[in-house]
Amino acid sequence: AAKQAGKNAVAYFDPSMQEEVVMRNQVQTQLRTAIDVGDVELHYQPKVNATSRQLVSCEALVRWRDSDGKFVSPQTFIPIAENSGLICALGEHVFEVAVKQALRWNAEGCLVPIAVNVSPIQLRSIDFVETLKRQLDKHNAKPEWFELEITENAIMSNVDHSSAVIDELARMGFRIAIDDFGTGHSSLGYLKSFQVHTLKIDLSFVRDVMVDRFSRSIVRSITSLGHGLGLTVVAEGVETEEQANHLQNLHCDELQGYFFGRPMPETEFNQWRKQSLAQPVTQHINAV
Ligand code: C2E
Ligand code: MG
Ligand code: MG
Ligand code: MG
Repeated sequence: AAKQAGKNAVAYFDPSMQEEVVMRNQVQTQLRTAIDVGDVELHYQPKVNATSRQLVSCEALVRWRDSDGKFVSPQTFIPIAENSGLICALGEHVFEVAVKQALRWNAEGCLVPIAVNVSPIQLRSIDFVETLKRQLDKHNAKPEWFELEITENAIMSNVDHSSAVIDELARMGFRIAIDDFGTGHSSLGYLKSFQVHTLKIDLSFVRDVMVDRFSRSIVRSITSLGHGLGLTVVAEGVETEEQANHLQNLHCDELQGYFFGRPMPETEFNQWRKQSLAQPVTQHINAV
């Protein structure tokens, strides 16, 4: 493409670029409509205590049901929403859906904290804190019910601003998690400049934890760093029992992944919960 050809190159018309622009505009329009008509929903994935294997909280993951009823992956539409400014509206919608979910669970006497993902663009936007407050006030919900998952790269792209915002959110009562931890380009020093509660070890390290001693070392280092700072350490992307047991032995506090449960719509999540409560708590004691 002309963009990659360097600044002295002539920008020839490139039909594939044109197509991409058209495609992106279409997706933007469809996404805006989807938010309005309620085709953007949340699925909930359990996080369990690494030792007891009991549910402790969940992560809300956004799902867009397109006109054919198929789910579009957030990996496809989040970047488009981010490039078009739609992400802030989407983010507020996601938070409101999570707030309403928390209220239902609270009314049913089975509230678990809900972790909500925050885009770097939201974090940078001047009215981000205000939008969260607005939704809490509107529905009379408590910040303590929520954890905000912010990626390491989002924080690093503007540490001073991020620290100020994160401090304010933590003071309000939100829990703060650093998502995809270990993949960012960062010094660790930023960890002491504001309050966080949780480190989520990126699933790439979890995937290779059985086969690759580097990944194993990284998991061990993150866990000991996290515990040294008094933080909860969560491993995401746990797909097998072997991984789960190994991560437990490496002292991760909480586990999340397909092995325990996929992201599920509300009804399915509630069923999963009942079933998992019915299961006896088994002992998971393995030698390292
Ligand atoms: P993330 O926050 O790091 O979420 C983890 C992703 O790993 C999710 O993909 C989840 O479905 C997937 N996952 C969970 N367990 C396993 C497992 O055992 N194996 C494997 N291979 N994958 C697993 P998903 O739902 O497609 O979301 C992808 C990314 O999109 C998320 O990464 C997050 O960065 C973003 N995202 C999702 N929902 C939202 C949202 O509401 N707002 C924003 N801003 N971003 C979101
Ligand atoms: Mg996340
Ligand atoms: Mg992650
Ligand atoms: Mg991720």
